[in-house]
Amino acid sequence: MTVRTRFAPSPTGFMHIGNLRTGLYAYLFAKKNNGTFILRIEDTDQERKVEGAVDMIYRTLETAGITYDEGPDKDAGYGPYVQTERMGIYKEYAEKLVELGGAYYCFCTKERLETLVDENGNHTYDKHCRNLSEEEIKKHLDNGDPYVIRQKVPENVVSSYEDMVFGEVSVESKDIEDGVLLKSDGLPTYNFANVVDDHLMGISHVIRGTEYLSSTPKYNLIYDAFGWERPNYMHLMPIMKDAQRKLSKRYGDANFEDFISKGYLPEAIINYIALLGWCPKDNREKLSMEELIESFDIDGLSHSPSIFDETKMRWLNGEYLKAMSPDEFYAKAEPWIEKGIDGKDYDKKEIALLLQTRIDILSDIPEKIAFLNNFKEYDTNMFIHQKMKVDFEVAKKAIDIATDALKDFDDWTEDGIKEQIKACAESAGMKSGQVMFTMRVALTGEPVTPGGAIEMAVVLGKEETLRRLAFSKELIK
Ligand code: GLU
Repeated sequence: MTVRTRFAPSPTGFMHIGNLRTGLYAYLFAKKNNGTFILRIEDTDQERKVEGAVDMIYRTLETAGITYDEGPDKDAGYGPYVQTERMGIYKEYAEKLVELGGAYYCFCTKERLETLVDENGNHTYDKHCRNLSEEEIKKHLDNGDPYVIRQKVPENVVSSYEDMVFGEVSVESKDIEDGVLLKSDGLPTYNFANVVDDHLMGISHVIRGTEYLSSTPKYNLIYDAFGWERPNYMHLMPIMKDAQRKLSKRYGDANFEDFISKGYLPEAIINYIALLGWCPKDNREKLSMEELIESFDIDGLSHSPSIFDETKMRWLNGEYLKAMSPDEFYAKAEPWIEKGIDGKDYDKKEIALLLQTRIDILSDIPEKIAFLNNFKEYDTNMFIHQKMKVDFEVAKKAIDIATDALKDFDDWTEDGIKEQIKACAESAGMKSGQVMFTMRVALTGEPVTPGGAIEMAVVLGKEETLRRLAFSKELIK
């Protein structure tokens, strides 16, 4: 069988990582089976359509490295791939389905429909138009009366299918309504469009969220009425925000592009979300797209919802940063360093070396290096360190030792400075640890810094190092 899967997002807002994960799994399954991955834009819900959302879908897939083989701009003969460009097709097939006995015209007015509610107060349909005579239908149509086309659900059947993840799913026809397939404005409902499109696009495996698990028997009845072969189905458990709530674009949850602008790497996000709902046989945690494709399998798909954990994603992102070459890291980090030093004349490459193993996401950078351009009065109690036996007097002496050691010293490298400080501390009868500790505080005015005294001195450069030592000595007085 040729595998053809599709990702069918609706342009109704940004893309949260749950939507993206559905697309990712459809992509992985297609690629794993040497199949074709298709992008289809499901934009028939004109009321919920959001300006710019279609472009966002393209951008997101491109950034994420999920490349579709067919889609709106890559027509392989199954197009158009945008539902609003397929309007004529739905009408044609809805009429065909009427002829085949799988659907019927319904001329009920809005007012009439509003009076129809079940015992729970939900709107329902009483099949009023299901058995209209040919003449009645013709009369309405000739009159130009507005109509919808409804599914004619066969009576007394059980519609079953075998979901590849969840096994058998069955629904009795008495529990399926004669729902609307084609609306009075000629637009199809999702219920109809998904069937027509998946069939005409030759989709072999429909991969989507579990919210469609129990309506799929209804869709299958449409396939049957057309005499079409049903696709295979794989329904995916949702990603939750917490134990109660699903991720939702309405609430601004977990937006892919927000993570990118926060300085997450696309490959780390993809890796992380791949594991939210699927687990490789060998339990590996760090997998590239190629490795994901290679190891993706249905057995690893989860039967329970997963909870999105940003702390875990941060950690994984940090692993990706650490694994980069210094040059690769520099290329990614440079704009964030630039932001952090705010135009000051520091060696950005040195700063990058300092940061590579000390951050999880790139947006940690500006705060981590804020001390570089923001050095002002600070709390001198930071110099007090009982275990190291450092007090104000010792600190002042240590600053003098460091200043004397460095003022005429020119080998401004980590090794050079370290040796020089050590030697000078020793000959002045002080422990080098005391000098280094004091120096780190004196150079930054911060309780925590991305690196020790020597690394700070290298990054600051000689002039700024000496200036800060002098400033701190004054401050202690
Ligand atoms: N447009 C639907 C959605 O965004 C797609 C469902 C499907 O994949 O069939 O939920």
